Amino acid sequence: MCAAPMPPLAHIFRGTFIHSTWTCPMEVLRDHLLGVSESGKIMFLEESSQEERLAKEFCFKPCEIRELSHHEFFMPGLVDTHIHAPQYYFAGSNLDLPLLEWLTTYTYPTELRFQSIDFAEEVYTKVVRRTLKNGTTTACYFGTIHTDSALLLAEITDKFGQRAFVGKVCMDMNNTVPEYKETTEESLKETERFVSEILKKNYSRVKPIVTPRFALSCSETLMGELGKIAKTNDLHIQSHISENPDEIEAVKKLFPGYKHYTDVYDKNDLITNKTVMAHGCYLSAEELDIFRDRGASIAHCPNSNLSLTSGFLNVLEVLKHEVKIGLGTDVAGGYSSSMFDAIRKTVIVSNILSMNNVNTKSLTLKEVFRLATLGGSQALGLDKEIGNFEVGKEFDALLINPKASDSPIDLFYGDLVGDISEEMTEILRRCMWAESKWFPFQAQSKAFSIYEFSWDNVVLRLPCVQVELESQNSTLFLG
Ligand SMILES: [Zn+2]
Repeated sequence: MCAAPMPPLAHIFRGTFIHSTWTCPMEVLRDHLLGVSESGKIMFLEESSQEERLAKEFCFKPCEIRELSHHEFFMPGLVDTHIHAPQYYFAGSNLDLPLLEWLTTYTYPTELRFQSIDFAEEVYTKVVRRTLKNGTTTACYFGTIHTDSALLLAEITDKFGQRAFVGKVCMDMNNTVPEYKETTEESLKETERFVSEILKKNYSRVKPIVTPRFALSCSETLMGELGKIAKTNDLHIQSHISENPDEIEAVKKLFPGYKHYTDVYDKNDLITNKTVMAHGCYLSAEELDIFRDRGASIAHCPNSNLSLTSGFLNVLEVLKHEVKIGLGTDVAGGYSSSMFDAIRKTVIVSNILSMNNVNTKSLTLKEVFRLATLGGSQALGLDKEIGNFEVGKEFDALLINPKASDSPIDLFYGDLVGDISEEMTEILRRCMWAESKWFPFQAQSKAFSIYEFSWDNVVLRLPCVQVELESQNSTLFLG
């Protein structure tokens, strides 16, 4: 008999759960039971030895428990804190120029094409599908200056069930591709419209984010007014900062009255506890202190920083200054839309910094795993909702099956027979280093339906993506 009337649980899982906490970068919980409520919240996560007590407390029968296979495990969904949805159109190409030339030659002309809703629909559908396949359950997207296309991006992320911040890009300065900019008035008016249209939709997991592109493409008036819009509506803010030496020099010249790059944003109310700034490779200790004091975050995008030869972010220094930090793919300055790639590149960049005696140690893979999950959730202000498997948070998870067909990693005869915690950690480590793509697939049984799935009308019931490992493949665009 149940102890008290209790709404029925939607799912009960038994198996291995791997996640991060602030005290442990990678915790392996073997043979645990996790219950998920109808609304998708984690109701309990305890050792299986507690089954009898939990069954009484939460009114479930043993036959309702879904048992994971010995080699399967859950991990939190990956959080991409910085990605440009329109640039997915040329991801993997056009990486032969440094930032400012790259923007002018490839990026602005491509983004201009998103005035076409049809073009936007094709690319935005593919980028959301692709990032979900890669295990990104939460993404912080830049759109373009086109409000209707950005609204469509929000609609598509909602339809697919991905959690997202979506931004309509604001820029009222662009001398190199002058057809790709707005007037200050247009930019502000359209931002107001964008925000109110999204809020009206009342999406459960998709929110608007105020998005000045970067200081070089925004007037002081525009930045200041966007800061006010964010404050009035209690909105998140995203932009770029201190990515490339030429960019920093240009900011100095354009804004001589400010102390440094951070000061330009800070004086215009754009550095808040809801701000996430991409890159920050060259931020001084004083600037990092401003980030910490305001509660602003950094999105570390190592693939992009390497591909566009922008620089190296010293993550250990950022952490020393107690600044919140997550990882981002920065498609298409970063050529990969996979957060597993961002994990690998973060470790490599950290290794390079220690090889060059900038640091005396490197980040461990476990620490970087935490940045890609819990760290990202904190950077986006979502750490009370997602990021790990704490009771009360949403069950936002990836189910990993390393034995799936065409898996890019191999399990060996001796695997999973020793210390299971160490073995699982090792398997996850192999998964993270493998050139993997991850994709959601339809739940096998009607009794266990994480989400309803068909390519024409995907509806995720929970932000929980069941994934297999898949060998490399690519997406082709028409037109
Ligand atoms: Zn970017």
